[in-house]
Amino acid sequence: MAPSTRRRGTRVRAGDAREAATRGARDARPPPGSSFDVIVLGNGPIGSAVARHVCALGARRVLVLDSERLTSGSDDLGRIVRPLDAEGRDEWTDMEQRSGTTFFTKRGSLAIGSETFVERGASRLRARDVAHRRAKTADDAFGERFTFFTRKDVPEGYEAVWDDVGGYVNPHSMREAQNALMREASEGNAMVVRATGERVESGGANGDKCTVTIDDGSAYTCDVCVMACGYYTEPLARECGLIDDGDEDATRFGEVRIARRTVLLAEVLESEVTGALAGMPTIKYEVPRAILDAARVRRVSKGAGSDHSANEAKSVYVLPPIYYPGPVPSAGWYVKIGGGPLDYFDKTDASWIKTERELAEWMSSDGDEVVADQLHDILFHMFPGINFQSLSSKACAYATSSDGSLQVQTLGVGRDVIAVAGCQGKGAGPADAIGVDVARVVIDRLAARAPP
Ligand SMILES: Cc1cc2nc3c(=O)[nH]c(=O)nc-3n(C[C@H](O)[C@H](O)[C@H](O)COP(=O)(O)OP(=O)(O)OC[C@H]3O[C@@H](n4cnc5c(N)ncnc54)[C@H](O)[C@@H]3O)c2cc1C
Repeated sequence: MAPSTRRRGTRVRAGDAREAATRGARDARPPPGSSFDVIVLGNGPIGSAVARHVCALGARRVLVLDSERLTSGSDDLGRIVRPLDAEGRDEWTDMEQRSGTTFFTKRGSLAIGSETFVERGASRLRARDVAHRRAKTADDAFGERFTFFTRKDVPEGYEAVWDDVGGYVNPHSMREAQNALMREASEGNAMVVRATGERVESGGANGDKCTVTIDDGSAYTCDVCVMACGYYTEPLARECGLIDDGDEDATRFGEVRIARRTVLLAEVLESEVTGALAGMPTIKYEVPRAILDAARVRRVSKGAGSDHSANEAKSVYVLPPIYYPGPVPSAGWYVKIGGGPLDYFDKTDASWIKTERELAEWMSSDGDEVVADQLHDILFHMFPGINFQSLSSKACAYATSSDGSLQVQTLGVGRDVIAVAGCQGKGAGPADAIGVDVARVVIDRLAARAPP
């Protein structure tokens, strides 16, 4: 990172830290040849939600594969829950109580930017009747509520919209809550094992069972397989020949791409957590043009063209202080900032081995230094009064689809593989709702395969 006179604090290496990955109990691997109603590859926010809801809808013999070898798009302690995903989610409290695991922190959310930027979020809040407030950033109503936010260098005319329902989830805790509820719903029959699914083979046109082979060569069969592998779903489905079977929808699913992302963790003192930042919600901020231009290097988004990419390029999101227990980053409170242009992995000559290697290398790096520099500058522009103790950048990734929506696609000649991909970097907050939708598709497939 280039030296900066505005720099405070020291960058520490985040590397491939799996900080505080509170991995819960896992079951022993079942004997090779075991058969299941459903096998779910992936135990992230979406896979765990699908497995739980599949059990809640009646499936019993469910096997979830939780890879230790592969990286994860949710290996962090905070993911924003947008107000529309949080509103009406009263069942989260029930989930937390029943599972004994708290995963949601309600902090409210705040969007700041031009009239157009703010209106985009505000119109959705109005449409769903979510209580919110809106003001110019120059107004007292804003200044008195968000004292931590500087209004210096903020363009005249900037507006803000805020609500009390948004917040963030701890993805690790959320999946442990889902796993506990899955076990309860399946009356103890469903299991989560540490294993990587290496191969998925459709049962074919005759309605045979689908076969899933794991890392030690053991093969299991199931009526329906769910690939909830995060950004690995599309490359693995392709490797297994599930994309190029001539089906138009499958081909479209194959357009899912993986984007490199970089976040910056900025350490703050506990006195500021309980002081200046005590009322801080999650923030989405349209970075003023002048600040973007002043950031040392600007990148042209390689994903230019999609609305999602264009928005990501000119806005950042910031999470309120979250406690990280160490060792990496070292134990302490951190504000997280992310955003910037999408930088896609090259899919030319993509193979599973190449993709896995590239992702492993990227995820064990400190991310993109240029993006980290920009995030640094924007952070200090937003919070000039906060005394950040250290800064550490962290690599991450997520999958995007060409039309900007999450892809849930039935694959395989036997229509027995349900693949989920393309979360667009916002799949953790609504993961439970996504899980309900995918579980219904799975139950429909199970019913269609059941003997008359
Ligand atoms: C920098 C960044 C910031 C983000 N911020 C937000 C946010 O603020 N709000 C939000 O809602 N979302 C956010 N997201 C997106 C969110 O993290 C993802 O949408 C979410 O993690 C997707 O969940 P998933 O279960 O599909 O995938 P993952 O979280 O990646 O989980 C998939 C799991 O499956 C495992 N796996 C993969 N392949 C296999 C296999 N073959 N066999 C067994 N296991 C396998 C992986 O190791 C992993 O543990 C962000 C993403 C990034 C990168």
